[in-house]
Amino acid sequence: MIHEILPVGMLQCNCSVFGDEQSREALVVDPGDEIESVLDILRKHGLTAKAIVITHAHIDHIGGAQKLKQATGAPVYMNLNDADLQKMLPDQARWLGMPTPEAVQIDVAANDGDRLMVGVTEIAVLHTPGHTQGSISLWMPSEKKLVAGDTLFRDSIGRTDLPGGNGRQILRSIHEKLMPLPEDTVVIPGHGENTSIGREKQFNYFLQGL
Ligand SMILES: [Zn+2]
Repeated sequence: MIHEILPVGMLQCNCSVFGDEQSREALVVDPGDEIESVLDILRKHGLTAKAIVITHAHIDHIGGAQKLKQATGAPVYMNLNDADLQKMLPDQARWLGMPTPEAVQIDVAANDGDRLMVGVTEIAVLHTPGHTQGSISLWMPSEKKLVAGDTLFRDSIGRTDLPGGNGRQILRSIHEKLMPLPEDTVVIPGHGENTSIGREKQFNYFLQGL
């Protein structure tokens, strides 16, 4: 499986492009900004975007979705518990002093247990609320990769002081949905360096005593 991680925008959100070598189908996660660079990656590998998945409706993760949707025609997936947060994109832009991105219509509701396919590779949607109510993580068993959005970071967890955040809930999500995954699972967080489930179990201060 082709996998490129591109930090995009002012807040350097990790945008992931997954591509199937056989079918040349691609899945793009969190196209927050810099859509020309995302399109360059698709072109470079001869990939066609089949789906755009938003891990949660914060501006740095969803900001470029409409541009990418227009350029590729791919449907946009998001958990609808973040619909209210998505409506607040103009407010989010104002808080950060950024222009308001083009609004995007969500085409498919991403719910816990849903399965997406990229070629022959299966991707499971895990609903992991706490950073926001609609936060999801993507689990690819055959690749042992987890795209964690802003739920789990290397040495940290997502902030819960923004609208829709809940500190107890994010810990429950991590404990119930993410920690049971194999320890050698590579975790691609929404920002910063990759990590693994085993590493975070051992060293992440926020997860001790869970
Ligand atoms: Zn976020």
